[in-house]
Amino acid sequence: MLTAHRIALDPNDVQASYLAKACGVARFAYNWALAEWQKQYEEHKKDPTHPKPSEGALRRLLNAIKREHFPWMLEVTKNAPQMAIIHLGKAFKNFFSGRAKYPQFRKKGVHDRFTLTNDQFEVADSRIRIPNLGWVRMRETLRFAGKILSAVVSRVADRWFVSITVETSEAPKQKKVQNDSIAVGIDLGVSAMATLSTGEKIVGPKPHRTLLCRLRQLSKALSRKVKGSRNREKAKIKLARIHARISNIRLDAIHKFTTDVSRFSIICIEDLNVSGMVKNRRLARSISDMGFKEIRRQLEYKTERNDGKLVVVDRFFPSSKKCSNCGHVLVELPLSVRQWNCHICGVTHDRDLNAAKNLAACAVSSTVQVCGGKQLWSDGYPVR
Ligand SMILES: [Zn+2]
Repeated sequence: MLTAHRIALDPNDVQASYLAKACGVARFAYNWALAEWQKQYEEHKKDPTHPKPSEGALRRLLNAIKREHFPWMLEVTKNAPQMAIIHLGKAFKNFFSGRAKYPQFRKKGVHDRFTLTNDQFEVADSRIRIPNLGWVRMRETLRFAGKILSAVVSRVADRWFVSITVETSEAPKQKKVQNDSIAVGIDLGVSAMATLSTGEKIVGPKPHRTLLCRLRQLSKALSRKVKGSRNREKAKIKLARIHARISNIRLDAIHKFTTDVSRFSIICIEDLNVSGMVKNRRLARSISDMGFKEIRRQLEYKTERNDGKLVVVDRFFPSSKKCSNCGHVLVELPLSVRQWNCHICGVTHDRDLNAAKNLAACAVSSTVQVCGGKQLWSDGYPVR
């Protein structure tokens, strides 16, 4: 399976400016190819004898003209422009298959990155060799053994990272629970990050809230600085650092949580309509803090790596409104109600725990059937 290890880099000033230049070349090539793609597509629409755009043809075109038109591209690894155009091809593929939106132009300072193929770099202990640059120090050694496939060099705030993808046979596995509670339902929520059907509540950090004040101060400070000034650059970096810190705290908590629950063989979560919920302003901040999407992404690969199974229940399944004791379904249960009494069987429910228990019941019965009347998944993925 493919595993990536992201390692902080320790470049000196000369190296850092090379990395920034390579990111710039990648971004330029991506934007050039996207504009060219749009132009060629328009031409093809008007006159079908013109070929449809393709990433292969665009790469050949750029190679043919870059020496003359963009000679500064030659100062960095040839991978930077090439891989950027390959990624544009993938972005279009995802768009055509309905998995993603139409590709957008890349902006400076937003996900600055470039990709290297494995024939273009070398890793030895805690160093990586990049073409036209030489050896750059890494903060740690590569954790996984196996065939190295590619590397992505990226910038977050003012720090540099390399993410190295390795094809490895041995994956770090989580010890499984050895009793009858091999299935777990997880209610992902707002008041607690997650509630397990076993009764555990994982509160999770709410970094945004604690750092929000600082964030506001810094954005205000930034907006007061004169555009293009050195002070504005400094303020920008300060703000970016706070954003990076918030995201690190959040990711760390999510990783710990998803690794921990991988001890269960079957995990059941709800397919939350995140974009719909984020539109609700009051909920928005807590929800994006919790990163539901990221939790689901991690659960997907961690259960797979652990030979477990992830069951994703349709969001119309009444996990909250159904009494996990007797099966009675309430007509309505406003979000503000955290606790309720079932008037059929008389049991008092904690809202989140009750939902988690319903999801656990789904997990147990998932191999054969249905929750909420429809067959909603196969092999852990919802059927669309
Ligand atoms: Zn009941």
